[in-house]
Amino acid sequence: MSILIQNVTAVTMREELPVMENAFLGIQENRISYLGTEKPQESYDEVLDGSGMVAMPGLVNAHTHTAMTLLRSYADDMNLQDWLFQKIFPFEDTLTPEMVYEGSVRGIQEMLASGTTCFHDMYFFQEETARAAEELGIRGVLCEGITDSVLEKKLQKTDALLEQVKNGSGRLKVGISPHAVYTCSEETLRACVRYAKEHQLRIHTHLAETKTEDLDCVKAHQMTPTQWMEYCGIFDVPCTAAHGVWFSDEDMEILKNHSVTVVHNPVSNLKLASGVAEIPKLKEKGINIALGTDGASSNNNLDLFEEIKLTGILHKGIQLDPTLLPAWEVLKMATVNGAKALGYENLGLLKEGYLADLILLDFAKPHLTPNHNTVSNLVYAVRGFDVAYTLVDGKIVYQKS
Ligand SMILES: [Zn+2]
Repeated sequence: MSILIQNVTAVTMREELPVMENAFLGIQENRISYLGTEKPQESYDEVLDGSGMVAMPGLVNAHTHTAMTLLRSYADDMNLQDWLFQKIFPFEDTLTPEMVYEGSVRGIQEMLASGTTCFHDMYFFQEETARAAEELGIRGVLCEGITDSVLEKKLQKTDALLEQVKNGSGRLKVGISPHAVYTCSEETLRACVRYAKEHQLRIHTHLAETKTEDLDCVKAHQMTPTQWMEYCGIFDVPCTAAHGVWFSDEDMEILKNHSVTVVHNPVSNLKLASGVAEIPKLKEKGINIALGTDGASSNNNLDLFEEIKLTGILHKGIQLDPTLLPAWEVLKMATVNGAKALGYENLGLLKEGYLADLILLDFAKPHLTPNHNTVSNLVYAVRGFDVAYTLVDGKIVYQKS
């Protein structure tokens, strides 16, 4: 299968050539085979007219719990500890595989329709999320959420998930997810590290989300959550840590030294009043920053364009500095930085040879007119429903009707 997108404005996310007007983008099988301003000579199975549209790499949602669409609007306006222990965890005890499948289908449909082509999941019954992801065509990294009481069971489930993914489309990968320092003992954390090393997997965890987590960890171990994770060996394997609201300067040095990616989840952090991560400072230190929605029960949607806009404006407002985190840097967090966080080397740019995961946005709309600056409009004016086409692995997996 081959597709040619013609007369499109291409936002490549490449520093040397950020935006190409009137571009032609060719796709052969699952790769971008051509990007240029001359019409390519080859013939294509399908031609899409990109007039009035913007093409960019698909978004990477680097931290979510997809099937939590089941808990959308189930518990709101509560602090994280009460929300988790009084509402979310008791509900999750009643989950069945069928429910997770249904929740995953809806979550994946929502992500594809709002421009996300790759997701980093942490939840229960990941074999069901994998099944939904295979059926709907999205790319993703799936991780069973691990807490003390289910460690052995979850490691066995991860064995089975690895087997399932190995026999699948090739779009899915598996990771290992110790949930957080307050739900995992040292023994559990070390078991996760051993498993990750043995199977060459990446770790996906929550870290330094609330002040309570920080204070409790210091009380229990005389170390911050970041120091404790380092002590338990979590950062000895490639690690992506969600939230990172409560880092000390010393914590940031640890993250930098171990090349840990921090996933910024501004909507979830604001809604649960966890605080605001110091993203400009983390970025200044050279730490890779990606974006995530978190689950639909703390967001309450999976539209990553909301995180993009909020990241673009939140830190400016807090620090009274409108030059912080320019639009281009925020778009990188949602694309190429996210791809890097998940261990992909050929994803997140519009570039020949890269995986053909990309979106087309309809810019012929009142709220995107005039278009003096495409990158600015993508960050500050676009909304998820502006996505007209979503392609993953060279296939059209969503088309707006
Ligand atoms: Zn989370």
